[in-house]
Amino acid sequence: MTPRARDEHVQPGSAGIDGSAGLYVHIPFCLTRCGYCDFNTYAGLEHLAGAYLEGLTLESDLAAPEWRDHTFVSVFFGGGTPTMLPSERLGDLLGSLRRRFSFDPAAEITVEANPDTVDGRALAGLLASGVGRLSLGVQSFDPAVLVSLERVHSPQSARTAFAAARSAGFQNVNLDLIYGANGETLESWRRTVEEAVALEPDHLSCYALTVEPSTRLGRKVAAGMVPPPDPDLQADMYHVACDLLGAAGYEHYEISNWATPGRRCLHNMGYWQGRPYLGLGAGAHSHRDGRRWWNVRPPRQYLDLLDGGELPIGGEERLSDAERATERLLLGLRVADGIPAQWLPDGRATPFVEDGLAERRGDRLALTDRGMLVANELVLAFAAGIGGVEPPGP
Ligand code: SF4
Repeated sequence: MTPRARDEHVQPGSAGIDGSAGLYVHIPFCLTRCGYCDFNTYAGLEHLAGAYLEGLTLESDLAAPEWRDHTFVSVFFGGGTPTMLPSERLGDLLGSLRRRFSFDPAAEITVEANPDTVDGRALAGLLASGVGRLSLGVQSFDPAVLVSLERVHSPQSARTAFAAARSAGFQNVNLDLIYGANGETLESWRRTVEEAVALEPDHLSCYALTVEPSTRLGRKVAAGMVPPPDPDLQADMYHVACDLLGAAGYEHYEISNWATPGRRCLHNMGYWQGRPYLGLGAGAHSHRDGRRWWNVRPPRQYLDLLDGGELPIGGEERLSDAERATERLLLGLRVADGIPAQWLPDGRATPFVEDGLAERRGDRLALTDRGMLVANELVLAFAAGIGGVEPPGP
């Protein structure tokens, strides 16, 4: 639903710690294709839904023996728009996964939804099947910004969907927001964040719009029809989010994520902490024991491989020790808990602490709000100082 929210964009770290794992299930159907989206998702492919659900079951059967020694502490149905499928089908799918994999009894189970694809009945059905967390792709409460993003829902349908989720009994609801669309002003973004806060969600993800060359937006920007996002304005927008959400009591626990106490997203925390994960579905990524692999992206090819009794793997890679070390730094520094200070040579972080970009918290080093804004650059600067240091382990 939102750039950077999907595991195909989040790079994993080192192997997990205690036999726990995350499960990602990709549903590649959408009502329409938003102009900025580069996810593996398709409009007009719903006729494949039945076969696709069968494919997920086949893939689960093939993958399950390799994951027998893992307990899944989180399940994330992402896409695409999982709620394009009837809630009964999603419930059946969840039941089928439960029969094939070992789930922690308290597993966090999230479904992403577009506001226009849920109503009270569907939401009650999801809750009854064990889904406890809903992530709504709201993006903005400014109608002009939604048009600019080519979103099909309205601010009112987002409010209605949120109210329906609460009425149905969801106690853990995330709102996804995007800032930096063409035409969005700082004031408009401020009103969006204020309106989001007024709804009192449990979790908010605020992403800076990025322009991917392969998208419709990317082509318009390349042709000079639309200006690219202004990085200075996006930085100001980020700080508005930090200020308003901090004042409202949300913990800024990751660059783009804020939560009320106890409501951090366990599934995404797993990516940042290096917990192994299995991705099921077209284009889904997996990671375990230093190896990562991904499925073929076209749903038809995904299904054909499974019909032939094969896992639909499209590629794989292993990271070198140096790459793993850099990645562990990047992932660790994304989150507010930071990294053990000993991962860096003495004094390496001092200039950044003095500049207010990082701070020491006990024996850990973490980025400040300002530092998180330039996390990638900081990690490169830190990584330049860890030559010869053992890559941080599990
Ligand atoms: S709804 Fe989300 S996944 Fe679907 S096209 Fe739009 S941004 Fe992409």
